[in-house]
Amino acid sequence: MAELVIRRLNQISARIAVAARRSGRKPSDVKLVAVSKGVAPERLKAVLPCGLRVFGENRVQEFLQKYEMLGEQAEWHLIGHLQRNKAKYLIGKIALIHSLDNLELARLLNKLSLRQGYPWQVLIQVNVSGETAKFGIDPSELGEFLDAMRELRGLEVCGLMTIAPYCEDPEQVRPVFRRLRELKEEATKSRPWLNLEHLSMGMSSDFEVAVEEGATVVRIGSALFSG
Ligand SMILES: *Cc1c(COP(=O)(O)O)cnc(C)c1O
Repeated sequence: MAELVIRRLNQISARIAVAARRSGRKPSDVKLVAVSKGVAPERLKAVLPCGLRVFGENRVQEFLQKYEMLGEQAEWHLIGHLQRNKAKYLIGKIALIHSLDNLELARLLNKLSLRQGYPWQVLIQVNVSGETAKFGIDPSELGEFLDAMRELRGLEVCGLMTIAPYCEDPEQVRPVFRRLRELKEEATKSRPWLNLEHLSMGMSSDFEVAVEEGATVVRIGSALFSG
């Protein structure tokens, strides 16, 4: 079981490396988050010795069960929408929140983080495609959102995240990834105090295109764990 996942990981890593070089970057510029939602903790435990240890979860309850078993042997990222009443369970356990999507949540996370005494790293989820079913800040409101975030000293905004619509042909979603990169560049130009290091974009079906467009973090689930 673990062997299958590791074989897939090696193939995916090779494809990421080729896509990174195509865009003039180093393979090491792209970090892979293994999306482990729906995957049993025993399976995750089995792949740890092989070097797969950054996991993305989208449900707090499920994450907490896995954290109880694996704890700090892994690095945990939250990639799904977070309800405010669940935020307190994550403090000190989640390394990076990819899915910050509203100011009320940001203020609450800031308060929790300040209480703990060191800044919490977050990415802002942007709804580039405009799909109504998706969470995320509207691109036209990103600047204002970033300005409001500046006050929140407990949070370190490390970049932007987006989810592209599913398409058979990943070329069709290239403009979504390109737009996120442009949003980052525009925001950084007008707000030099920002330090938007990361673009979290690309999943199993479209990660190569995302890497070509500048992804520094890809979130891969089914291509690693399905079956
Ligand atoms: C499930 C999920 C992924 C992984 O999707 P796959 O297509 O299985 O690779 C990535 N990002 C988010 C936000 C997800 O919910």
